[in-house]
Amino acid sequence: MKIIVILGAPGSGKGTVAARLVKTLPLKHVSTGDLLRAAAANADTPLAKSVAETMRKGELVSDEIVGSLVVEQLGKSGAEYEYFLLDGYPRNEKQAAFLEAKLAEGGRKVAKAVWLEVPQEVLVGRLSGRRTCPKCGAGFHVETMKPKVEGVCDACGGALVQRPDDAPENVANRLKVYEAKTASLLGWYEQRGILARVNGVGEADAIAAAVADAIK
Ligand code: AMP
Repeated sequence: MKIIVILGAPGSGKGTVAARLVKTLPLKHVSTGDLLRAAAANADTPLAKSVAETMRKGELVSDEIVGSLVVEQLGKSGAEYEYFLLDGYPRNEKQAAFLEAKLAEGGRKVAKAVWLEVPQEVLVGRLSGRRTCPKCGAGFHVETMKPKVEGVCDACGGALVQRPDDAPENVANRLKVYEAKTASLLGWYEQRGILARVNGVGEADAIAAAVADAIK
């Protein structure tokens, strides 16, 4: 199983690309954002509430919580997948080092880190128009990726919502957190000689095809 990391700012299209790749490749998609949203929604505990609040503001959830979710997923996924695509993890250098060490325990390493390059002004437009299905996680956009019926998920019929962290007052903070904590990972993976840059602007199918080429 080839372990792939997909990097890019919030709104760069990591989830959209991953949703396309799972249809064409034997690929397991693990989104830490999706895992955390499910954990926060399914338990009425102080911990779940604090995770939900951290996410709403666009801050990072603790490295320990997210790390344990990723380790659990790595343990669950076996030979049925050719690719294991990590989306949203790592998000800082401490997480990247943790992932590297965990994989090394099993003689494994990240095969490729793909960076979806998208200019800042495009990111803001994408995030503020994004609508998400809370039932199945599918993503839409009010202008560029409209569902067939307004407000209804094409995939499962769920009612589309705006994620609380996509509200305008939280978008700027998420982009700031990305610049401050996550952007340095490009250098981290470049140093290891495994960074692939993909232009993340354009038609979603074409971007997904470019990512597929980069990881093969
Ligand atoms: P995403 O769906 O990737 O945009 O993630 C949504 C939110 O989940 C982020 O803004 C963080 O609050 C949290 N999150 C996701 N992945 C991580 C991670 N690797 N480390 C810390 N927090 C994370």
